[in-house]
Amino acid sequence: MINYTERIGLLMQDVISRTPALGFIDLREVLVFGRFGRPDAEGAFATCHCLTLPETEPGYYFWKDRETGELTRRSEWFVTKTPEVRVGSTRIKYLISFVLPRFCEQTLERSWKADLYDDVEPWVAKLDTIIHELYHIDPAATGLRQFSNADGTRATRTHAPEFYDEVAKMTRDYLASRPDPALYEFLRLNFSTLHSRFGGVTATTFRNFPSFPQRYMEACSTLPVDQPGVKVEPLKRLSQPTLYTERDLHVREFTGVTARRVPREPFELRQSA
Ligand SMILES: [Zn+2]
Repeated sequence: MINYTERIGLLMQDVISRTPALGFIDLREVLVFGRFGRPDAEGAFATCHCLTLPETEPGYYFWKDRETGELTRRSEWFVTKTPEVRVGSTRIKYLISFVLPRFCEQTLERSWKADLYDDVEPWVAKLDTIIHELYHIDPAATGLRQFSNADGTRATRTHAPEFYDEVAKMTRDYLASRPDPALYEFLRLNFSTLHSRFGGVTATTFRNFPSFPQRYMEACSTLPVDQPGVKVEPLKRLSQPTLYTERDLHVREFTGVTARRVPREPFELRQSA
């Protein structure tokens, strides 16, 4: 079977080594994993998830009386935190997820992205997506890459038009640098072809699949609760881990309709070249 996320990781290493703007990325701090999504359903092909966002200031949700505007109910105080992911002694800073099998079917045909390219093969849409997700990694390591407005203030959007242009340029430059085709050949194949050629498609996933490390709310019991007449609603108790390690990484085989766990050796730390 072909381990799709491992192949993407190897390709990413080569992309980074040939793309100056991405040269700062240490892939040991980036974990690539698979999520399930059908090709015929709407949704993302891939996502970059940042694990370096700081804890928020304490806050709470509240409900007001529609007529008087008075506070009637509120949640416990809470802070929003990011779970920690560790592989060996390395703390992971970014997760990049690929939605399978949907991503395998991505093509430039009938896509607005085709306008960014002159004459490339349709599968290059997938390479564009891989580079797009890498470009989200912020050199300042403060979250996802942000763009400045013309006046120098920080833009709130992470997808400015120049983001797509830059990604297309990096994609074209990478292909022009004559990388070893063996590194990207798998992107030419759609899901059913991968399946027949390799006998199956697997990917790294988290033990709590289809879940994965996501920001969570934690109650702060030390903050005052007394506001007379206001009912305090307890927060839903946490059901996901706050720390994930390599023991929480499972390889699953993705079919067109589901993903099931496959036995394999313990996850190994990828060494960057
Ligand atoms: Zn994006």
